[in-house]
Amino acid sequence: MTATEPASERNGHPTAADVEVLVVGGGITGIYQLYSAREAGFTAQLLEAGHGVGGTWYWNRYPGARFDSESYTYAYLFSPELFDEWEWQEHFAEQPEIERYLNHVVDRFDLRRHMRFDARVTSAVYDESAGLWTVTDSTGIEVRARYFIAATGVLSVPYFPDVPGREDFKGESHHTGLWPSETVDFTGKRVAVVGTGSSGVQIVPIIAEKAASLTVFQRSPNWCTPLNNAPITPDEQAQLRADFETIRETLNTSPSGFLHVPHDRAAFDDSEEERAAFFEKMWQSRGFSKLTSNYSDVMFDGAANAAWCDFMADKIRGIVKDPDTAEKLIPHDHRFGEKRPPFVTSYFEVYNQPHVQLVDLRATPMTRLTEHGIETTDAFREFDVVVWATGFDFGTGALSRMGIRGRHGLALVDHWADGPTTFLGIQTAGFPNFFFPGGPHAAAGNNPRYNGDQVDFITEALVHLRDIGCDTIEVDAAAEEKWTAMVDRWATKAPSFGESSYYFGTNIPGKPRKYLLNSAGRPKLLAEIAKVRENGYAAFTLARSPVTSSTGA
Ligand SMILES: Cc1cc2nc3c(=O)[nH]c(=O)nc-3n(C[C@H](O)[C@H](O)[C@H](O)COP(=O)(O)OP(=O)(O)OC[C@H]3O[C@@H](n4cnc5c(N)ncnc54)[C@H](O)[C@@H]3O)c2cc1C
Repeated sequence: MTATEPASERNGHPTAADVEVLVVGGGITGIYQLYSAREAGFTAQLLEAGHGVGGTWYWNRYPGARFDSESYTYAYLFSPELFDEWEWQEHFAEQPEIERYLNHVVDRFDLRRHMRFDARVTSAVYDESAGLWTVTDSTGIEVRARYFIAATGVLSVPYFPDVPGREDFKGESHHTGLWPSETVDFTGKRVAVVGTGSSGVQIVPIIAEKAASLTVFQRSPNWCTPLNNAPITPDEQAQLRADFETIRETLNTSPSGFLHVPHDRAAFDDSEEERAAFFEKMWQSRGFSKLTSNYSDVMFDGAANAAWCDFMADKIRGIVKDPDTAEKLIPHDHRFGEKRPPFVTSYFEVYNQPHVQLVDLRATPMTRLTEHGIETTDAFREFDVVVWATGFDFGTGALSRMGIRGRHGLALVDHWADGPTTFLGIQTAGFPNFFFPGGPHAAAGNNPRYNGDQVDFITEALVHLRDIGCDTIEVDAAAEEKWTAMVDRWATKAPSFGESSYYFGTNIPGKPRKYLLNSAGRPKLLAEIAKVRENGYAAFTLARSPVTSSTGA
């Protein structure tokens, strides 16, 4: 029997599982979950909506898409040999290299034969009598699994703003998160980019190189700082290899999952001159170190944060020649770190080019699209290509579109109508044997490190169940309530993101304003996991399902 046979053809075995572990999502988290479950001796299969592996790095193939995490800190750490043999070309790799890496991992560990692509899960229903999940994809194929693990990502459902006439536009139109595999040629074209979040600011300089004209529609400016990418030199490659164990140890114990070293001084411990020199050092530093290695109080003290913001604003004014444009590019409504900071390469410089224009949508909102272009309250502009860099339905987007139903037919979307409730960002009460690593209440930091901790714990829990002769695990409502209350408590206090960020669902009309990350971070996650181990999984109910013996997997 294969997992591709419909349930009706499972002759005489209506309660048999096709597979013990069913993973949904072929991104960095799902691939690791599949590997980890198989290493632990479970039969496992992975379903992926896309035509290939990569998740974020499969869908976001727009020009300029690249890591903001250092390549070697984002990559897997479970295999020293893998780390040794893969030579990242740049400190912040571009999408094609990342996609190649994830494909390499899949083939190196012989995982592809356990994967099925073009399989978008549309329904996942828990069958209480059998203790199994019946998972169906858009082609109608059903898989029955003991454990259902949705590694479906937090940024995997692209969002388009509801602008009248969006469908009427007759030119080319692409969302950065659904970028086609064929090359999009901007040469000599009139291009619009809508949105200046992390993706928008990555694609803008690349389009500017080719387009006849580029108009950037900005709703809110972000605190963008230079990524400071560079090729990895042969000496650095050798050093990375030599330092693997130290790197792994540092990453495994780092709160945010980076190698960056925290600074031991507060902003006003230094003189004005010293502070300016330090901020300059930060501006020149790589990626997220501007958050993680900045003055120790930058995320906690308003005055320290304002000093850093003033420094960045002056930098922008120094780069962008037109003072009006410079002011539009400087955030005036939020502190640094309130929103996810984007990292840029030659972004501000683009606005000095005569064919690039910035439109402030707060001053002149978008009113509609027509066949030929975009209308704002002050003008109509014609375009050949419109690029939507308008983000995602963060955190719960994918899980709420999968038709998930737990005990007594309870729909996940109803259970989470007021926002997600979880324990460890891994399980929710009423949905036995269902896990969602890398989902809501997940990492605020370098994602694979936190998500990897969640995967490790899930596999450990499944092994524990097997060892004690159980096959059903469900978090108790009390544990879930406590964890969710902790997440909510941390949601607005420093160093958390602010309520204006999309981490509260604010970019999606009608979405409950609930915090979708865990700002207590990795230390809290790991401490709680240690507690679970110590007290014998007291936060969960462990059981043996009624028909375990007929499991065919
Ligand atoms: C442009 C961009 C840049 C980023 N850069 C960084 C960075 O530098 N550092 C960092 O830490 N994070 C970054 N992120 C966040 C990034 O999403 C995570 O790092 C990482 O990709 C999460 O991996 P994942 O496997 O959990 O989810 P994903 O990579 O999102 O994979 C989820 C997969 O699940 C599949 N899926 C969803 N629903 C279904 C369904 N119903 N049926 C079947 N399959 C389904 C999707 O098709 C997708 O392939 C970035 C995100 C974006 C969009």
